[in-house]
Amino acid sequence: MEIANGVHHFDCGPFNWYLIEEEGRLTLVDAGFPGHYSVYKKGLELLGKSSKDIEAIILTHAHADHIGFAEKVRKETGAPVYVHSGDAKMACKPLQLPWFGLLSNAWRTYTAKMLGVAIVNGVFTLPHLTKVQTVSDGQLLDVPGKPKILHTPGHTDGEIALLLEDRKILISGDTIVTRNLLTGELGQPQLTNPILNHNYKQAMRSLDLLREIGEVTMLSGHGTPWIGDMNEAVNIALENSKRTN
Ligand SMILES: [Zn+2]
Repeated sequence: MEIANGVHHFDCGPFNWYLIEEEGRLTLVDAGFPGHYSVYKKGLELLGKSSKDIEAIILTHAHADHIGFAEKVRKETGAPVYVHSGDAKMACKPLQLPWFGLLSNAWRTYTAKMLGVAIVNGVFTLPHLTKVQTVSDGQLLDVPGKPKILHTPGHTDGEIALLLEDRKILISGDTIVTRNLLTGELGQPQLTNPILNHNYKQAMRSLDLLREIGEVTMLSGHGTPWIGDMNEAVNIALENSKRTN
């Protein structure tokens, strides 16, 4: 379904990935878990598209729940996979997830369910990337949607958000989300839980880089869309972080 101007989203539970459409050509942003490939294929079909319409693949970061079926699509289409240089090495290794944070919270019903979804959808046999192209902060990618790369480290070193300036859309990855990944609670803009961050303090500081963006539809890696001023989103997220600390 079209979730924002020319951006499509297909239901993979708590794991979001998006297709940006421009003049019939597509950019895939993130790629769920490997098992979500069937949802991707069905999504293309619903749009009247096929793999040959994929021009680029962008990973907001190199965790397993975002790398998923990216290598499969890369091999199928020859489309380049863009990832920030800070995460390029991690993208080429298997099993990248904040395991300690997830396993130490596995007593929570929702976290246990998420781990179950990860296992059923192939996290242990995830084909890591064998070829990536690195991007850097401020770069405007000449691919469908013309996203501007915003380097927002913290969740991972190479975490990025994508600003589609003319459409007023921010694809925020896990820089700022609207779902608590341990409890499953949906809600206001928030950081991912401290234990799921490589560097939580840095993740908090990175939010300041989003304040000046203005009014957008924010599409995150986890949770539902949020529409509003990013300065307000950041204030809400920082307020929420006081409760999770
Ligand atoms: Zn994620």
